[in-house]
Amino acid sequence: MRHTIEVADIFRAAGPAYRAAHAGHLSLSQLKVMSAIEACRTAALGGHVEACSDCGYQRIAYNSCRNRHCPRCQGAAARTWLEAQEANLLPVGYFHVVFTLPAQVADIAFHNKALVYDLLFKAASETMLTIAADPKHLGVRIGITAVLHTWGSAMTHHPHIHMIVPGGGLTQDGRWISSRPAFLLPVRVLGALFRRLFLTRLLDLHNAGKLVFFGTLVGLSDRRTFIRHLTPVRKKRWVVYAKAPFAGPEAVLAYLSRYTHRVAISNSRLIAFDGNEVAFRYKNYRCSGAERQQV
Ligand SMILES: [Zn+2]
Ligand SMILES: [Zn+2]
Repeated sequence: MRHTIEVADIFRAAGPAYRAAHAGHLSLSQLKVMSAIEACRTAALGGHVEACSDCGYQRIAYNSCRNRHCPRCQGAAARTWLEAQEANLLPVGYFHVVFTLPAQVADIAFHNKALVYDLLFKAASETMLTIAADPKHLGVRIGITAVLHTWGSAMTHHPHIHMIVPGGGLTQDGRWISSRPAFLLPVRVLGALFRRLFLTRLLDLHNAGKLVFFGTLVGLSDRRTFIRHLTPVRKKRWVVYAKAPFAGPEAVLAYLSRYTHRVAISNSRLIAFDGNEVAFRYKNYRCSGAERQQV
C-alpha cells in the first residue's frame, strides 16, 4: 500500500540537512538505514520491467531495499510471518502472557542489549516451563512462542516479552492435559520465580565483568552500588500478565506481527509533513484513545 506520506519522503526531503546537523553523531549503521530507506523502490536500486506478452503493456518495478528498518519492506515481511504463525496454531484455547522488566533494570538493559535481552528471554521461558511442569500446577510440558518488545508505544525504552501459550501441554507419557479455560498458571508464582531467575543471573553477569555502564549509570560498575541499585526491585512484585485473549490467539498474533517486523514508525502513523515538522499518531496506554503530537 502506498501511504500519502512515507518515512522515505521525509528522509529524502530533510535527510541531507539532518545528516549535516548531526555529522559525527550518526553511526555508520544509522546512515546505511537512511540511505536504504531513501533508495527503496526507486531507480537507485535498479529494477525490472514487467511486460504483458499479449497487449504489450509495460510497467517498471523498482527493487526493494529489504532493510530491517524500512517501513515498506517490513510490511510485506510481517504478513508472511503472521501467516506462518497462524498455520501453527493448535485447535485449543490460548493464553497471552507478558513479562515486563522494572524500570531500574530496563536502564541496565539499554546499555547491555544483547546480554540482557537474551537473559530476559531465558528467564521468562524457564519460568513458564518450570511452573507449568510443576505437578502442583499443570504438570505438563508446554509450548511457547515468544516475542521481545523493547519499545513502548510512545517510543520509550520498555523491554518486555509477549508469549502465546496453548492452554495445556503434554505429560511425560505424551498425553494432552488442558488447563482451565480462563486460568493458565498463577501470576504471582510466575512473577516471583521470574524475578529470582533474572536477578540472580544479572548479578552473575555483573560478577563476570560482562555488563557495561555509561552516563548516569557509570557508578553501577561497582558491585555494592549495583546491588544497592537493585534493592527496590528485589523487594517489589514483578508483574506478569496472563489472560485468555478475548479475540483469540489470532488477534494477539496480528498485534505481534505488526511489531516483529516493526520499524520505529510505520508509514500509516504519519499524518503530515511540511518540509520542517512531522506530525504522527501515537497511543498513550495510560490514557484511552489515540493522541497526536507534533515533533
Ligand atoms: Zn525498503
Ligand atoms: Zn508489547
